[in-house]
Amino acid sequence: MRLIVTEKNSSAKKIAEILGAPQGGPTSDKTFKVPYYMWSDSDGDHMTVGLKGHVLGPAFPEGYSNWQKTDLHDLIDAKLIKEPTDKNVVKAIKKLAKEADSLVIATDFDREGELIGLEALEEMLDANPELGSREETDAGTLKVLRARYSALTKEEIERAFSEIDYLSYPLANAGAARQDIDLLWGATLTRAVSLASRRFGSNFLSVGRVQSPTLGLIVEREMERRAHVAKPFWEVFANFEHPDGAFEAHHATDKFWEQAEADAALAGTASPGIVKAVTARKNTRKPPTPYNTTAFSTDASSRLGITPASAMRIAEDLYMDGFISYPRTDNTVYPASLPVRELITSLVRVKEFSAASGLLDQPQLTPTRGKKETTDHPPIYPTQAIHPGALEGPKKRVYELVVRRFLATFSPPMITESTRADIEAGDQSYFVRGSVVVDPGYAGIYTYARSSDEEIPALQEGQELALSSTGAAATDDEPAGTDNPWAVGKETQPPARISQAKLIEMMEERGLGTKATRADIIQKLFDRGYVYGNPPIPTETGIALYEAFKNYVPAMATPEMTAQLEAEMDRIAAGEMTKGSVVGESRELLHKTWSEIDDSREDLAKVIWKGMDEDRILGPCKVCEEAGRTKEDGSPNMLRIIRAKKSGKRFVGCSGWVLDDPDSCDQTFPLPQRGDVFRLEERCSICDQTPRLKVQPFRGRPWNLCLNDDCESMQEMKKRRAEREAAKKAKEEMDQKPMPEKDKSATATRKRKRAKAAAK
Ligand SMILES: [Zn+2]
Ligand SMILES: [Zn+2]
Repeated sequence: MRLIVTEKNSSAKKIAEILGAPQGGPTSDKTFKVPYYMWSDSDGDHMTVGLKGHVLGPAFPEGYSNWQKTDLHDLIDAKLIKEPTDKNVVKAIKKLAKEADSLVIATDFDREGELIGLEALEEMLDANPELGSREETDAGTLKVLRARYSALTKEEIERAFSEIDYLSYPLANAGAARQDIDLLWGATLTRAVSLASRRFGSNFLSVGRVQSPTLGLIVEREMERRAHVAKPFWEVFANFEHPDGAFEAHHATDKFWEQAEADAALAGTASPGIVKAVTARKNTRKPPTPYNTTAFSTDASSRLGITPASAMRIAEDLYMDGFISYPRTDNTVYPASLPVRELITSLVRVKEFSAASGLLDQPQLTPTRGKKETTDHPPIYPTQAIHPGALEGPKKRVYELVVRRFLATFSPPMITESTRADIEAGDQSYFVRGSVVVDPGYAGIYTYARSSDEEIPALQEGQELALSSTGAAATDDEPAGTDNPWAVGKETQPPARISQAKLIEMMEERGLGTKATRADIIQKLFDRGYVYGNPPIPTETGIALYEAFKNYVPAMATPEMTAQLEAEMDRIAAGEMTKGSVVGESRELLHKTWSEIDDSREDLAKVIWKGMDEDRILGPCKVCEEAGRTKEDGSPNMLRIIRAKKSGKRFVGCSGWVLDDPDSCDQTFPLPQRGDVFRLEERCSICDQTPRLKVQPFRGRPWNLCLNDDCESMQEMKKRRAEREAAKKAKEEMDQKPMPEKDKSATATRKRKRAKAAAK
């Protein structure tokens, strides 16, 4: 019997359905709750079984679990073991392997998939030594069949099994090296920092090899924002009359840094304005390149507002369904083997995508190409044309995005025309600019990229235009102005916070993490309370942790070390280095790093404690403020998060409270006991009474909490909550109302009527 092992049950089922189809499809059964699929043909019996991703993981052997008693140098040198993470799956594959006379590894086609295959393989060899031995896999001499495919479609699976390959030990070892190094660094540094700052139990501070430099990117930007000093400037505008309607023009000087200069520009402007020059320019915007993982997840984030982590989850679902190709890929060049005309023909038959049907008129379909070309996976593309309406919610939008992008890569450029007119009014110059789409090109199908038209009136050189009698147009905040021309005072803004999509791009540029791990690493920063909000804002604890590293363990704060490790893993995959030497080097570096932390543990702890303290401080107490109570040094009493010693419950209290002093401040506010809370505002911008917090529940959406119960925002929230509950209750009552009762009463009425009639 030939046993085919895949990464998940859904792919085992799909492959059995495809390969077993000529025999009328597979039969299925279960062992240790793990399903498997069988069929027979002229080549003999075949079976597929799916793993659950990694079913084994590296772990420390027994004897290292006590944080206080384990010397960290011993921990760093510990010989790691493999521990089953799913015992049932391990038992199932061992049992099935006993009946097998050949094995095919058919896990996902990437470094991680190769490692998952090797892990399963070694367990199966233990169960059935006739297939080979661990000595042979350790030496890399055992030849193991490997099916590599990039999509769960009939053509691709049939091709993969007809062009069968061998398992690549270097590729698997590269993945294994990463796992070992991540465990060693994560465990050692998490313990080191938690011990130094005396954070035990569930309060430990997690540190990661990739996680910490990623946090650094967010913190560095926050520091730039805090250091930003706003600089005032002025912009000058004027309204001109035109037969098609008045229009607004901008002064030729972008920004005036002195108010006097802006005033001089206003004084120098005189009616009429004379059009001095009109220039039009055609712009050609090239269609986008094929999707790799980064481009896809950043696009899903910016175009659809779906976070990179959930975009990847959805893409994996679509891949498992056979709707798109494997979504973890660096490749940006379609392989020549891709049946593009066939695919496009079926895609444009779907009504939603018919705008691209013109592509089929082209004798030759030429796609764009990105910078990186690899041979493992193709760029992400739709493997099947389906009606998006058949999918639900975000899945539908993500599938559409992949299809539209794919069609766009074969489409002509978008052509826009921009016009600029320069107008002289008195001794001052103004300009106005417009842009219209002449030919949408690829934006006709990739609709997210279509720019809106900004039309300006038709202007001719020498044309005279009187200054209007009206000034700035009305906005939400301000009524229409009466001055023409007029100046608007503005301030320079700090650099923007980094969006999650941008963060993924920056991680890729710096070699932080892999296409498979980046989104999860960002999620961890949220889970650990180092960042909150969207775009992510660092908490004081997050900032302190990074600052502590930067000062005392610089190797952990900067991306260089991690990038170097990534490069070494590539060299293992290419067979140029061994796993043993890379992990060994990493252990040496870790010994050095731990010694550095140990030498400065007290200073490091102080920095971290200060950050954690600051996260507990919410803002000045208004009651104390009004009563004129302050701290001894004259600074305001602060409201802060306190954990009750006895009950362990948290609440908000004032630093002005003194035990047994009735004149001190007894302000307290309850807090939700579950989830993380962060300071949103020192003083609520709605009621101006108390601090306002953000509550991030373990599951579900974050919500804003104003400590002041009477705050409009809280009243509104309560009202909405009550409405939701009332609606829910009403629905439940509707659902519960037993239908027969209604019938019964109707029957009873009929009976009564009949009885009445009979009585007459
Ligand atoms: Zn107070
Ligand atoms: Zn409020």
